Amino acid sequence: MIRKLLRKVFRRTGSVTEPAPALIPLEQHGIRRGQLSQVACKTCSVLQENGHAAYIVGGAVRDLLVGYPPKDYDVATSATPEQVRALFRRSRIIGRRFKIVHVMSGRETIEVSTFRASHDSETAQTDEHGRVLRDNEYGNEVEDASRRDFTVNALYYDPTREVIIDYHHGVADLRQKTLRMIGEPRARYREDPVRMLRAVRLGAKLGLSIDPAARHPIREMAELLENVPAARLFDEMLKLLFSGHAVKCLEQLRAEGLHHGLLPLLDVILEQPMGERFVWLALANTDERVRQDKSVSPGFLFATLLWHEVLANWEARKREGEPSQPALFEAMDTVLETQSRKLALTRRIAGDVKDIWAMQPRFDKRSGKSPYRLIEHPCYRAGWDFLRLRAQSGEIPMDFVDWWQDFAHAGHDQREALLNLAPAPSSPVRKRRRRRKPASGNDAGAAGDDSGAERKDGD
Ligand code: ATP
Ligand code: MG
Repeated sequence: MIRKLLRKVFRRTGSVTEPAPALIPLEQHGIRRGQLSQVACKTCSVLQENGHAAYIVGGAVRDLLVGYPPKDYDVATSATPEQVRALFRRSRIIGRRFKIVHVMSGRETIEVSTFRASHDSETAQTDEHGRVLRDNEYGNEVEDASRRDFTVNALYYDPTREVIIDYHHGVADLRQKTLRMIGEPRARYREDPVRMLRAVRLGAKLGLSIDPAARHPIREMAELLENVPAARLFDEMLKLLFSGHAVKCLEQLRAEGLHHGLLPLLDVILEQPMGERFVWLALANTDERVRQDKSVSPGFLFATLLWHEVLANWEARKREGEPSQPALFEAMDTVLETQSRKLALTRRIAGDVKDIWAMQPRFDKRSGKSPYRLIEHPCYRAGWDFLRLRAQSGEIPMDFVDWWQDFAHAGHDQREALLNLAPAPSSPVRKRRRRRKPASGNDAGAAGDDSGAERKDGD
């Protein structure tokens, strides 16, 4: 108790012995305030004018230094959340354990956090593996820098002076293309095992090689990820899969031994010969869409990643005599349930995933009113994209996919002709005999034109 008190007193008086940070001027780093979000700059200047220290920190500064457009902006300040809240009309305090403030302007949200204290290894509340459970003390700038994960993430940009304050040689590491952990890597992974996934993701995204001292312990410490709450893992997996570098990230995860038995999803992606082509195609597609700034849907991606699991489970059930349709739904639930134990898929995403899967056998029905109804389905476009991916991976013939594309874009008479053309039995998924009904004219006008419909998947 006394030791804790002393530590606190010393911290307050700033006696933590750290070398002075490097002040990197504009001529060296080249980032002008005009390149940054004006909302983030304004947030800093309002805080500074009111007597607080405030900087743009983290990913944004790092990304600008390597020439990537920042995804979002974080501000670190000496002001308490309540002080920040009082200065910005459109702001709200979020978080229970560690409060941060969202400052909003137009469509932008800037995340403002108060400088945090570094973990005190002797008094911090941890689980039995050393994972820090509580982390809610405010600290000073020096401490805030040292509790960040990698040196390249501990850069503080002051938009007023256009200087970078670099406590841990992050700028030099970035130039040398090295991702270096602040502090002792094993201790930092024990505090928060998610840092292992962050190392792989940031290394792949920024083209940095993980410093050997941070790389080596990963293989042996990988199992610590099992203690991380499912919701946190899910967030991190989303970041990884939608980084625009998912293929590289996942290859790297495999190389670092960060997959086996860790997350069922990763086993599915990395250890499944059956669906491998399909899964990697889906990932490459997603990477391309992210890089082109197109919308991407977690539901769609998770549906692809788990499809071959569903197929295997579905087939097994059918072999045991279960009727096809209920067997598919049972298979879907089984697969999603297995995943959810480790990965907290949100209900909305799980719903999207199911919609896409459930639609697949409906593509087999190319007679009567069924195709007309299918192309009206709100998720038709996602379902068709999924169908196309299955064809690209060799699971089903491509002309089947083309038929649907033609049907969706055709006028009424053409549609009738296409229905007459559709071969029977026409089940690429289920080899089942089916009687083909003659196309009826009652469907006239039932179909909308899907032409140019973009997937409504911008989550
Ligand atoms: P990106 O936004 O590209 O995913 P980022 O580094 O900005 O990367 P965020 O999750 O936005 O990632 O975190 C912002 C900053 O907070 C990081 O740059 C880092 O300084 C710090 N940080 C995030 N996660 C951790 C962690 N697990 N341990 C220590 N510091 C972290
Ligand atoms: Mg960020």
